[in-house]
Amino acid sequence: MFDSLSDGLQSAFKSLRGKGKLSEGNMREGLEIVQRSLLEADVSYPVVQEFMGHVTERALGKKVLLSLRPEQELVRIVHDELVSILGPVDPSIHLKKDGATIIMLCGLQGSGKTTTCGKLAQLLIEQKIKPTLVAADLQRPAAIEQLKVIGEQLGVPVYSEPDNKNPVQVCKNGVAKAEADGSRVVILDTAGRLAIDEELMAELERIDKKVGPDQVYLVVDGMTGQDAVNSADAFNKSLELDGVVMTKLDGDARGGALLSVKHVTGVPIKFIGTGEHFDALEPFRPEGMAGRILQMGDIVAAAAEAHRIVDEKEREELEAKMASGDFTLDDFKNMMEKVSKPGLMGRMMGLMPGMGQFKEALESEEAAGGIRQTIGAINAMTAEERRNPKIIDASRRTRIAKGAGVQTPVISQLVKQFDVMKPLMQGMAGGSMMDRAKMMQQ
Ligand code: GDP
Repeated sequence: MFDSLSDGLQSAFKSLRGKGKLSEGNMREGLEIVQRSLLEADVSYPVVQEFMGHVTERALGKKVLLSLRPEQELVRIVHDELVSILGPVDPSIHLKKDGATIIMLCGLQGSGKTTTCGKLAQLLIEQKIKPTLVAADLQRPAAIEQLKVIGEQLGVPVYSEPDNKNPVQVCKNGVAKAEADGSRVVILDTAGRLAIDEELMAELERIDKKVGPDQVYLVVDGMTGQDAVNSADAFNKSLELDGVVMTKLDGDARGGALLSVKHVTGVPIKFIGTGEHFDALEPFRPEGMAGRILQMGDIVAAAAEAHRIVDEKEREELEAKMASGDFTLDDFKNMMEKVSKPGLMGRMMGLMPGMGQFKEALESEEAAGGIRQTIGAINAMTAEERRNPKIIDASRRTRIAKGAGVQTPVISQLVKQFDVMKPLMQGMAGGSMMDRAKMMQQ
């Protein structure tokens, strides 16, 4: 994420580090590199100007030059300025006390609206709320079908009227049906075009006026750089936006767009999309994002991600087992099954400081195959062997390997790994994962 912006800033800070004591002269040089890398990352010029104005003023202050580690001080200033330009945020979905809350999603075609409908639905389901999705994208032929598939996968109702060409009516009828069914949230998936045009805006304005959504979110594609900024500006002029969801920040996104969109619209960024799966939606946190931009990692987000897959009770049980040394191959298998969700490990690594480089390796088919193989091997063991792998002798190894369809050394390797891991796990137990993550960040 934010590859080019981080790379540029990293090299800026590296070149500053090589200079020993900083002077006003080389601080200016460092600031110029910061500025260039922001422009290269597609942050729009006025935003860069304003950003640099603030950073320069603070960086050239006497206090910085006199401080022992001025380059660290500069990193802090750039970090704080990023946080202030990206915030403040409110990544919660405000629900009305009575009746259904209507959320309207809009954005250009391909920005990720329909996918985001599914992701928001998943988020609400996690909060024990079952939303209704309304298929009001009547422009893109496959959009209704796509939303229906999402609804089926998540087990939430999808309202559509394939023969109705009037999106205002479809939305109104959809909301009425959802309210009659007692849905607390209705998400409207509206049409997008490849580029902003008057007809699209007029259609969205009609829906806005006649259906009266409680919240209007703009979905923007984080990979499109300056186009994202232009479209956000245009949507913001026609509709009263309540939030922005920026998608595709998992790829080689030129994340600069996030800064510009926030600056140009002033609308809070609510969520960021970091993958194609429904669980790849993160509440937006300026501190985490600034950390990522500066390649300082975002360990709090990584821990939160871990929390989503293991609930409180399970975690306590697991930690108790780890602490007492009762952690068995069965527990190990359960953990593997949880973390082998597609894309999850890669996303977590991407959030850890300095671990981003392992992201691709962990997301590879090879890594997924390795996890499947481990799970298969544990499945082929008896309950006793899983509890006490020490009893696995040569003949047991051969039997297990045959059962799992792998070579015998795979089993020896697994048992050895588990042996090494168990005491480590024991050492790690105690204190919640979140607490440890926070401690590490300080
Ligand atoms: P719509 O036309 O705005 O409804 O866009 P879609 O929801 O159909 O998304 C367009 C494409 O972008 C699809 O292939 C999605 O899987 C993909 N997509 C959406 N959000 C993300 C994201 O956060 N990360 C990645 N990598 N792909 C995404």
